[in-house]
Amino acid sequence: MSYFDVNNITVAFGGVRALNDVSFSVNQNEIFTIIGPNGAGKSTLFNVISRIYQPNNGNVVFDGKDVLNLKAHQISQIGIARTFQNIELFEQASVLQNLLVARQTHRRSNPVSEILFSQFVKKEEYRHRLEVEKVIDFLDLQAYRQKFISGLPYGVRKVVELGRALSIEPKLLLLDEPASGLSVEETQDVAFWIEDIKKVMGITVLMVEHDMHLVTSVSDRVMALADGKKLAMGSPEEVKNHPAVIEAYLGVSEENEK
Ligand code: ADP
Ligand code: MG
Repeated sequence: MSYFDVNNITVAFGGVRALNDVSFSVNQNEIFTIIGPNGAGKSTLFNVISRIYQPNNGNVVFDGKDVLNLKAHQISQIGIARTFQNIELFEQASVLQNLLVARQTHRRSNPVSEILFSQFVKKEEYRHRLEVEKVIDFLDLQAYRQKFISGLPYGVRKVVELGRALSIEPKLLLLDEPASGLSVEETQDVAFWIEDIKKVMGITVLMVEHDMHLVTSVSDRVMALADGKKLAMGSPEEVKNHPAVIEAYLGVSEENEK
């Protein structure tokens, strides 16, 4: 058993098999990336892991825990956080507030203890604040901490979305297209952060990404999906040059151009 195991996952939407018997394992402190043309099943896979979709078959085990037995809100409690391709933040709240809200799942206190042990609660609040400030420093968000999300440029929102996931102090971080819509320079920043998330924070990363330059520069291993099936797995170079992968991309090359 590895740190994170996805075993024989099948998801069918009516007649469409979005995922067809997909299995892979991620080692602790690895950056594992999933690539594949549009419609390959990448987001569906993330939605299975984060308990939004119930698969027809298969199981998911993280750190010895059966993930499919949990509810969506319990995922962060076992140390899994994700970012969304379409950014999901509270628009009418500040960066700081968004990151603090993300930590709600980490609250150990309950309403009764809040009244009985206010000293303890103060300590907890202080710890939340400290943790969030660490993330703000790490991602260079100081200039934006009191700014509302609604007024921020896309590139900054994308970073806040990453910060929201990091605030949870995850052990496994799922990144759904962290570089989509970003400039070359912004993508470079994302590459540095992903490397530090692994090296400095010791977090294991499972990423879906189209930008092959980013994929090649940060990934330890890559898996290619197409039509819900695993095509290839190995080092970034091995997968990029795999004939089945080249063919899958050629078939839809126009659709995938950015
Ligand atoms: P990717 O993220 O790799 O682009 P998706 O996982 O979004 O691909 O989609 C895989 C396939 O499953 C596609 O054919 C898509 O149309 C289908 N699909 C995804 N989600 C749903 C859904 N909620 N209902 C019906 N079909 C879906
Ligand atoms: Mg997708």
